[in-house]
Amino acid sequence: MQNLLGLQKLLSIPKDIVITSHRNPDGDAIGSSLALSHYLRAHGHTTYVMTPSEYPDFLEWMPGAGEILVHDIEPEDCDEKIKRADIIFCLDYNALDRIDKMGETIASTDCTRVMIDHHLYPDEFCDHMMSDITASSTCEMVFDFIEMCQDKPMIDKTMAEAMYTGILTDTGSFKYATTPKLFRIVAQLKEIGVDDDKLQDLIFNALSEKSLRILGHCLANRMEILPEFKTGIIWLTKEDYEDFDIKRGETEGIVNYLLKIKGIKVAAFIHEQPKITKMSLRSKGDFSVQEIATKYFKGGGHKNASGGASFIGLGGTIRKFKNLLPEYKEQLDAL
Ligand code: 5GP
Ligand code: MN
Repeated sequence: MQNLLGLQKLLSIPKDIVITSHRNPDGDAIGSSLALSHYLRAHGHTTYVMTPSEYPDFLEWMPGAGEILVHDIEPEDCDEKIKRADIIFCLDYNALDRIDKMGETIASTDCTRVMIDHHLYPDEFCDHMMSDITASSTCEMVFDFIEMCQDKPMIDKTMAEAMYTGILTDTGSFKYATTPKLFRIVAQLKEIGVDDDKLQDLIFNALSEKSLRILGHCLANRMEILPEFKTGIIWLTKEDYEDFDIKRGETEGIVNYLLKIKGIKVAAFIHEQPKITKMSLRSKGDFSVQEIATKYFKGGGHKNASGGASFIGLGGTIRKFKNLLPEYKEQLDAL
């Protein structure tokens, strides 16, 4: 962290603090925001956790989740709190365009901004930047931050469970981006009292009947495998969204099923929204879907998990994706 001492000095007296994370917040965005919020409140600060759009239902059990302010729902209230804030934390994103209109308000303020993030290629819009692309999750980095502030003894069960949630979701239950350091942190969280069996159940056994039926539809009717490119695609049409009444979050994780097929190294979940076609990309090993998302779909993320969007419709987007695969054929063959 650049100029940690300066930030610590600032935090030595109670402040008004807004904690923000990215659009379509996931377990890591919400977990890191709530953990940091509990920690800062324990120091006497006033905190507001804010997201551009709503968080998924499977996180509603988290202590503090009920107080999260959603910019899409209450834009004036959120903007006012951002303008009044002494400090704004930016968690789990590294560019203001990841938070839409909220980003415009943040850009217009001159208060202190602090980034804690683990995505590639951060933009320079914060006064204090903690950017670590080797970290499994922003939650891991919130633990690092509290440790750097020499406050590890302050971590209670509520903070520990919030951090554990983001670590669990961003690593896919310790399947990706793990390091010896992460397991040491997780051991400490467990010592603090994290009930990991309970969290696994709350987070991963929280599907609705509808979500499981949507998954069935995807696997039976909306999947194409391209063995010559070690790639699988699942798509959903606008009509699918209407027929199944699909809501935000109900397609979470579907992309990962493609990687369960032996030999498949690249997975794309392409879904048509009213105005935009969005995609989730996943890969295994050294193959970077981040490059594809950035170069072709105005997106980004991590090497093995990225996202992007296009305005050329579902069919056009699927064709564009398939047409770019030959460019990567040699790389894919080597996997
Ligand atoms: P997901 O596929 O789960 O929505 O996102 C996977 C990863 O890609 C996340 O780390 C997320 O932050 C990133 N990501 C998803 N969509 C976009 C996008 O449109 N732009 C950028 N820069 N990153 C994205
Ligand atoms: Mn993350």
